Amino acid sequence: MPDSRRYALLIDGRLEEGAAEFGIVDPARGAVFAQAPDASRTQLDEAVAAARRAQPGWGGLSDEERRHHLGRFAEGIRQQAAEIANVFTREQGQPFAHATREILGATRLIEAVSRVEVQPELIFEAEGVRRELHYRPLGVVGAITPWNVPITMAAGKIAEGLQAGNTMVLKPSPYTPLGTLMLGEIAAETLPAGVLNILSGGNDLGAWMVEHPGINMITFTGSTATGKRIGAAASTHGLKRIVLELGGNDAAIVLDDVDVATAAPRIFRAAFLNSGQVCMAIKRLYVHESKFDDMRAALVELAIEAKLGDGLEPGVTMGPLQNKMQYERVIELMQDAAAHGAVFETGGEALARDGYFIPPTIATGISDGVRLVDEEQFGPVLPIVRYTDIDDAIARANNSPYGLSGSIWTSDVKRGYALARRLEVGTAWVNKHLEPSVDAPFGGAKESGLGRVMSVVGAKTYMEPQVVDIQA
Ligand code: NAD
Repeated sequence: MPDSRRYALLIDGRLEEGAAEFGIVDPARGAVFAQAPDASRTQLDEAVAAARRAQPGWGGLSDEERRHHLGRFAEGIRQQAAEIANVFTREQGQPFAHATREILGATRLIEAVSRVEVQPELIFEAEGVRRELHYRPLGVVGAITPWNVPITMAAGKIAEGLQAGNTMVLKPSPYTPLGTLMLGEIAAETLPAGVLNILSGGNDLGAWMVEHPGINMITFTGSTATGKRIGAAASTHGLKRIVLELGGNDAAIVLDDVDVATAAPRIFRAAFLNSGQVCMAIKRLYVHESKFDDMRAALVELAIEAKLGDGLEPGVTMGPLQNKMQYERVIELMQDAAAHGAVFETGGEALARDGYFIPPTIATGISDGVRLVDEEQFGPVLPIVRYTDIDDAIARANNSPYGLSGSIWTSDVKRGYALARRLEVGTAWVNKHLEPSVDAPFGGAKESGLGRVMSVVGAKTYMEPQVVDIQA
């Protein structure tokens, strides 16, 4: 059934039509089901101008007052969670229960992030000198989000950017703009005009934002290739502040003392959640040879239990890949792996039906040097690589341009801790993976990102430090 609902841009507190429209594909069918507004460059100018006008007033509110507004925004989303989840499932593909969890999780994220406080710091005080460190809003933040977890990404950026006293222009991915535009309808009712503006459009719109002289900072989540382009453009357009959350090829290392029955379900979830389309999903699994057969068998059993289908059908636990490009890329990586000797313990090819369905796939018989192990697959295909020497496994995990997160799985937490500290990543876990927390700075080492979000460290990312140095 096509969706006849009208979706609107949010500019200066008003819901507006786009200059044009573009089609949104339901990935469970591979067919367009709705239209999204396509913002023009003039509409971007209007949104930026509105955000600039609103910033002094918003920045002048107390932390408590901003938190209050964001709380109303979160509550508004909570009340419409089911309606948003319905649309969001159709555009993103994930099962309805997961979509609902993402939306409700986003409301809690907004509330938790808005409670983080950045206090001025006293640097020095003596002999008539008082030196303090303050943090000021940056001005207008441009936020650009990807298609895999767009509601979570929008919620984190909105809460962190706005609580810091900035105003914002946010652009969702052209693949999944609808849920975010629905957040805009709620913002129109709950936030002062101009504080948050939401524009959907193509990649060009993102590039215009990065070049725009009225935008002071870009907060971006997406691929490393786009992140690098944004970094280069931001530096030549006003030396914009940037925070980049990019791709990953997270390794999980299973030690010889692991309890397979406990670890396998956690590893499976961290590899296959959202059909593997998560930046910090486990994307390669190194297993000690003594546990290899048991771990493979346990993961295959879990993969067989998964129920694939349209996310709106009851009982479905795994949806399609979100878009055709990603679907074709994952198929290509499976074919390349097969040509290099991969054995597919389960899965291994796309389902012969409409939509972008690939079943959970466990690949063995390959190692580092094959694309499925070396590259970010961003799909439901997990290579399991055998190792004998732990130092070699750590070296292989670290031998990547990426460094988002990684994990060690063991019954000996002390040993796990020591090994986790050797991983060249932004977050190193022991006996867990893909469990980010609002109280911990989140971001990537190496080409997985630049800067951190979340916690006080992340809050400061959205601010400019200012020293105030006084001589009495
Ligand atoms: P993408 O880089 O293709 O697109 C992301 C966003 O950037 C979209 O809104 C797109 O329209 C916009 N964009 C594209 N070209 C642009 C340009 N030149 N200037 C400005 N904006 C531009 O990424 P994607 O395919 O949507 O997302 C998947 C990637 O995101 C994966 O690599 C994944 O690992 C990564 N990701 C990272 C995190 C993290 O927190 N580190 C979280 C989620 C996803």
